Amino acid sequence: MTNKQVANKFKLLGDLMELLKENPFKYRSYHNAYRVIRAQPEPVIEQSLEELERVKGIGKAIADKIHQLRDTGTITTLDRMLEQTPPGIVKLLGVKGIGVKKIATVWQELDVKSPGELLYACQENRLVELKGFGAKTQDKLRDQLEYYLATEDSMLYAIAEEAAVNCMNLLMQSETIVSVHFVGDLLRQNPIVAEIELAIITDDVRDAAEEIAELGFESDGDISSHPEIGDFVFHLISDEDELEVLCELPPDHQVLTAYSSSDLVGIPYHMQELTTIEYLKANPSALDQVITNEEIKGCIHNHTTDSDGSHSLEQMVDQATINGYEYLVISDHSRSAFYANGLKEERLLAQGKSIDQINANQSDIKVYKSVESDILNDGSLDYDQEILDQLDLVIASVHSNLGMDELKATQRLITAIEHPATRILGHPTGRLLLARKGYPIDYAKVIDACQANGVVIELNANPHRLDIDWTWLNYCIKKKVMISINPDAHHRETYTHMRYGVLAAQKAAFPRELVLNAKSLEEFEKWRSNR
Ligand SMILES: [Zn+2]
Ligand SMILES: [Zn+2]
Repeated sequence: MTNKQVANKFKLLGDLMELLKENPFKYRSYHNAYRVIRAQPEPVIEQSLEELERVKGIGKAIADKIHQLRDTGTITTLDRMLEQTPPGIVKLLGVKGIGVKKIATVWQELDVKSPGELLYACQENRLVELKGFGAKTQDKLRDQLEYYLATEDSMLYAIAEEAAVNCMNLLMQSETIVSVHFVGDLLRQNPIVAEIELAIITDDVRDAAEEIAELGFESDGDISSHPEIGDFVFHLISDEDELEVLCELPPDHQVLTAYSSSDLVGIPYHMQELTTIEYLKANPSALDQVITNEEIKGCIHNHTTDSDGSHSLEQMVDQATINGYEYLVISDHSRSAFYANGLKEERLLAQGKSIDQINANQSDIKVYKSVESDILNDGSLDYDQEILDQLDLVIASVHSNLGMDELKATQRLITAIEHPATRILGHPTGRLLLARKGYPIDYAKVIDACQANGVVIELNANPHRLDIDWTWLNYCIKKKVMISINPDAHHRETYTHMRYGVLAAQKAAFPRELVLNAKSLEEFEKWRSNR
């Protein structure tokens, strides 16, 4: 169990207690525990009671609950709160744009008990009368709820993949199962997965079905559920030919009817998307140029404890060295990002000195001084030119005032792209997959501006973001605009998120020559010093 997972249990506990109007002192302490646990550099689940109690903000009661969670997989107080709350209300806690207080209000005043009911109430214009709501809040909430309901049963690729791998390991204990393969959304490397589909090759379909039941799977129609690892769609088949047929079946959202199957020969399944097929047919040699995870040489856009990361500069450098990167770019948050402990000028310059020292003392990896500068409301960057000049490169990202229309958002980004210090545009839409749509932008205009100004676009590889969306990479290729596949690591273990970015880029058959961090240190240095 990761710290984030443990922390989320306390957040839920705090939210439910607040919702059920329990003692405010208690729920505040759980909300505080959520923040404290998330910020711990080591797994709390592995620590003794004494160690936990020494952490400020944890204390005995919370330490006990962490151990209870470790030993039993649950917290009894949390279970008790869950029993008293309608399941639809618990779901509402996961909808962006409505907090605990507002949920309590709609539950109490309108008897709304689920996201669907709340959407209906928005459509009926019933929220505007309530205290703390207005027409604007209602409009925003309606958008959020529509998005939530459309994606409710889906999951992030990273989550689906982990469950699929656990499932495969369990299935392989069966003697009649020969092999298990990804099909459907996982095979297609889609950032969002609707169903985890696995093809199971077996010598004996009937025996295999029985053994699967013995392994703890319960089937209901197409779905096989396991209490610990989740829901799956199994296809029991007897040979590789049948596997091929299953792999060729495109997931529902894809319309490939314009192509005959002979057009698709030789194109990997995850690249069988309309724009990618067209690109590959026009450029047959492009298939050999597609970026792979092994070709990533540098790690750009990473945070440390100087802003909101979990590990120190030194720890981040050590881990990047172990991972074998040739260079590491440290880009903590800038001064306006107060919620993320953004760096004021003096702290940024002090960090630069520490980086100089690290570079002077070792030659295993080159560390670069950078910042993830907030793009302010008017599109300007967060520091004066004099400060920006002292950095090796600047990443510019939007983190505040996300509720913009397309015109405003596009202009804000273009102003930042035109700033002479900007080298990389961070997560262009600010979206969080399955949680937040992100502000609307005119992609073509933003990409054109990057081309005109020699700015690289980030493909933020955090599986929650994968922003820029891969469907716009084809346009980047056309315009010869480079992307940088960045982990946006806030933890030394999440450098590996880079892989999810590569998987998304592969869907567009994106060429390695246009990936900034596939450059060797020497080439990267040439790009950096060449404005
Ligand atoms: Zn950011
Ligand atoms: Zn960041």
